[in-house]
Amino acid sequence: MPTKGSACRAEGNQTLRTVCASCGRSIPTEVGHAHPLDEVIRRETWGLVGYHAKQKAVFPTCAACYGTGWRPPGFVSMN
Ligand SMILES: [Zn+2]
Repeated sequence: MPTKGSACRAEGNQTLRTVCASCGRSIPTEVGHAHPLDEVIRRETWGLVGYHAKQKAVFPTCAACYGTGWRPPGFVSMN
């Protein structure tokens, strides 16, 4: 595994993983590239939009936490 180079950067690399904003579980980062119409498809990672330090931000959330109703601070409903 190379220690430097664009292949290791998060941009455009969908194989990287992140952690759930609620429980810290390791989850895929692929949600960042999901199409809005894919919202209805069951998946492992949810990108919930909320606010962090008054800045709009996406909070990666695992399916378990999403299912139990966890939402980020200032959660913005897409409906
Ligand atoms: Zn979680």
